[in-house]
Amino acid sequence: MPVLTRLIPSPVVVDIRPGALDDLASVLADQRISQSGRLAVAVSGGSGARLRERLSASLPGADWFEVDGGTIDDAVRLADAVKGGRYDAIVGLGGGKVIDCAKFAAARVGLPMVAVATNLSHDGICSPVSILDNDAGRGSYGVPTPIALLVDLAVIREAPIRFVRSGIGDAVSNISAVADWELAHRVNGEKVDGLAAAMARQAGEAVLRHPGGCGDDAFLTVLAEGLVLSGIAMSIAGHTRPSSGACHEISHALDLLYPGRAASHGEQVGIGAAFATHLRGDHEGSRLMAETLRRHGLPVVAQEIGFGDDEFVRAVEFAPRTRPGRYTILEHLDLSPTRIEEAYAEYAASVGG
Ligand SMILES: [Zn+2]
Repeated sequence: MPVLTRLIPSPVVVDIRPGALDDLASVLADQRISQSGRLAVAVSGGSGARLRERLSASLPGADWFEVDGGTIDDAVRLADAVKGGRYDAIVGLGGGKVIDCAKFAAARVGLPMVAVATNLSHDGICSPVSILDNDAGRGSYGVPTPIALLVDLAVIREAPIRFVRSGIGDAVSNISAVADWELAHRVNGEKVDGLAAAMARQAGEAVLRHPGGCGDDAFLTVLAEGLVLSGIAMSIAGHTRPSSGACHEISHALDLLYPGRAASHGEQVGIGAAFATHLRGDHEGSRLMAETLRRHGLPVVAQEIGFGDDEFVRAVEFAPRTRPGRYTILEHLDLSPTRIEEAYAEYAASVGG
């Protein structure tokens, strides 16, 4: 008998709407994630204090833990603090660093993790990966997918708009990442998971083609859903391929070559995706991506994030080394620095940079 279906590791709750935060306790109780209310809630030292003030009355059984940063040491410290506390779950309430620390700590102590994202800056809000700084730079650690994800759109609106912009770049970059994955399939026979590719691509296309702007709930809902689907696509595939191709290699290269000068993840991968799409010969697709990015206030050329053309070209050249073994348009073309320079000038002219 053939396998009739497959189980997809995915959260049992996805709650995206204005006011979702006010129902956190009842959602966790209803879904039997935490009936006792014994929760370890991780928050940042800064904006976390305000959230704690607002929520502590509705979460009387919770203990609160401050997360100082986004390093592996911070995550291990959180795990040690939570260990032995007889909690039902760890709640990561905050931005990327808090959620990544909570994911890692939950995996380490064997508890389910609830993600409550207070910004939409990248697709890690519901992914099976925890990104933490370590002694060697930055590491990606495999962890279980969050058991529940809450996004309160009223809270998202309070965060600086650059976080929403970053999420847009990360979601749109899926389109380029999936195209790279398919290229690897055609050239090298790499296996593409059709469902993971479909979810990641649809997430990117929905954000790309949505007529709304950062200020309206309809658009923010599609963006949040897109980031959730990207995370689940990675769970299905078992790796980050559906959401990470040449676009992300270029961004990692910028981070590594020019430490301290990096723009946001989404800004960098957005430019990377539009340029990679150009390199694949899809000039119309590249222009559409650039138009959308620009409409939402994102940069489309390197100069707009403070890098000279030569610095960007150097990053593109270096990019394949950031993900050895990953085959994208960069490894496929294997361009010389001069050819990268020419291609980038052509791209910049094409998108009007
Ligand atoms: Zn990303």
